[in-house]
Amino acid sequence: MTLTPKEKMAIPPQPMPEQDPRERAHNMREVALGYSADQAKLEASRCLQCKNAPCVQGCPVRIDIPGFLRHAAEGDFSGAYDVISQASLLPAVCGRVCPQEKQCQQVCTMGKALKDVAKAVAIGRVERFCADRVRETGTAPLPEVAPATGKKVAVVGSGPAGITVAADVRRAGHQVVLFEAFHKAGGVLVYGIPEFRLPKAIVQAELDKLQGMGVEIRTNFVVGRTRKLTDLLDKDGFDAIFVGTGAGLPKFMNIEGENLVGVYSANEYLTRSNLMKAYDSDHAATPILHADRIAVLGGGNVAMDAARTALRLGAKEVHLIYRRTEKEMPARAEEVHHAREEGVQFHFLENAKRILGENGHVTGIECLRYELGEPDASGRRRPVEIPGSEFVIPMDGIIVALGNESNPLIKSTTPGLETDARGHIVADEHGRTSLPRVFAGGDIVLGAATVILAMGEGRRAAAAINQMLAET
Ligand SMILES: Cc1cc2nc3c(=O)[nH]c(=O)nc-3n(C[C@H](O)[C@H](O)[C@H](O)COP(=O)(O)OP(=O)(O)OC[C@H]3O[C@@H](n4cnc5c(N)ncnc54)[C@H](O)[C@@H]3O)c2cc1C
Ligand code: SF4
Repeated sequence: MTLTPKEKMAIPPQPMPEQDPRERAHNMREVALGYSADQAKLEASRCLQCKNAPCVQGCPVRIDIPGFLRHAAEGDFSGAYDVISQASLLPAVCGRVCPQEKQCQQVCTMGKALKDVAKAVAIGRVERFCADRVRETGTAPLPEVAPATGKKVAVVGSGPAGITVAADVRRAGHQVVLFEAFHKAGGVLVYGIPEFRLPKAIVQAELDKLQGMGVEIRTNFVVGRTRKLTDLLDKDGFDAIFVGTGAGLPKFMNIEGENLVGVYSANEYLTRSNLMKAYDSDHAATPILHADRIAVLGGGNVAMDAARTALRLGAKEVHLIYRRTEKEMPARAEEVHHAREEGVQFHFLENAKRILGENGHVTGIECLRYELGEPDASGRRRPVEIPGSEFVIPMDGIIVALGNESNPLIKSTTPGLETDARGHIVADEHGRTSLPRVFAGGDIVLGAATVILAMGEGRRAAAAINQMLAET
C-alpha cells in the first residue's frame, strides 16, 4: 500500500524499547533493547523517499538510506541489509553508536517538517534492526574473496578502520594479517565502548566474519616494539601496510593530586571494565576501583561511558564535572539523557582545580566555578573561571575523561613517517602517508573522531591499496 506524505507524517515516531533506568544502572546488559519487526517496518515507512535525499549527504559513508528504508518498510530486512552493506561494513555497530542526530537524521526532511530532529526518521534504529536480524538468522553469506594474488598486506590496529581495511583488501584476494597490541581484537569497540551500549558479541561476530574470509588476526603484537613497521615491509615480505592504531593515549589535567590512588584515566577505567571484564568479578580477577563517590571530569562520550560504568560497578554517587554548559557538551544527547535517567549528577560550569588526598588516597576534589565568555576557535563559548569561587566536594574516586591523543610509538620507531604537531600521521585523502607502501587512517590520522569516520577512511585507504597492488 502506498502512503501519501500526509499519511506518513501522521505515523508516530517509534520509541526505542529500553531497560528500566533503575534496573539497568546496576547491570551491564544493553540499555536499548531494539525494535520489533513491526516497529522497524512502521518506522521505515515514515520515510518520504525524498528525491534529493539530504540524509545520504549527511551520512559520512553515503549509505543509500531511502533505498534501504524502502526494503525495510516492505519487511524485506535482508534486502535492506544488502543495500546498507554496499557502503558500510559495520551496520550493527553504527546503528548503535553513530551520532545520527548530528548526521543523517539532523538533515532528514521528516524531522524538518515536524520541526524536531527527534522526530526525524530513526534511520540508525532501523539500520540496527536489519543488521541484527540478518546476524541472528545467519542469512548473510560471507563476502566473496577473489582468487589469491600472492600479495600480502599488514593491517596494524583492529579498530573499525583496521577491520574495514582488512575486509576490503582480503576481498580483492590479498593475504591479510591484522596485528593488534591487546590480547583481544576490536579496538575501542571492545576496550572503550561499554557492553551496555555495544554488546561485545556483535563485534566478535564481525571479527569471526573476517577470520572466515581468511584474515589472520595476530594479537599481543605491538608494532614498533614486537616488530618495527619497516621490518614488516623490508624483512617479513608485506607488500603494503595500513596503520589504524587509533588515539589511545589519555590526556590528563596536570593538576595537583592526579597521582593519588583512586585517580584513573577513563581509558584505563573502561579498559579494565570492558576488555579485562572487571565487572564480572565471578570470572575475572581484574582489580578496579570500587568507590562510593566518584567524580568524572569531562563532557564527551567517554565521560558518559565512564560515569555510567561507575554506577554499574556500585558507586553510590557519580558526579560529572564539566566546565561549560550542557549545550556545549560534545557527548551525544541520548547518552546524556540515559546517564541522567540512571542517576549521574551533572555539575556544569565547574572544573577541578586540584585533587585532595590523605595517606596517598583521594579524599576530595577542589573545584572552581566558571562562566561563559567569548567563543573560542571551536566556536563554543570559552569558559572563564570565577576567581575566589573555590569549593570542595568529598570524593573517593576520580576519573579523568578529557579525551585522547595518538600513541607516539610508531612515529618514534619509523624514520620518515610524517606526523603533524599533534602527533597524527599525515595522510592524503587516499590514506597515503609520507612513506611508500604505508597507508594510515582512522583516529591516528583524524584525532579522536567517530566509528563511521574511521570506517570511511578505511574504505578509501583499502581502495588505494588494492589499486596500488593491482598495478605492481
Ligand atoms: C569510550 C569511548 C566511547 C566512544 N563512543 C563513541 C560513540 O558512541 N560513537 C562513535 O562513533 N565513536 C565513539 N568513540 C570514538 C570511536 O570509538 C573511535 O573514533 C574509533 O574507534 C576509531 O577507530 P580506529 O580504528 O581508528 O581506532 P581504535 O578503535 O582506537 O583501534 C585502534 C587499535 O589499534 C591498536 N594499536 C595501537 N597501537 C598499536 C600498535 N603499535 N601495534 C598494534 N596495535 C596497536 C589498539 O590497541 C586498538 O585496538 C568512542 C571512543 C571512546 C574511547
Ligand atoms: S531525508 Fe528522511 S524522509 Fe527523506 S529520504 Fe532521507 S530518511 Fe527519508
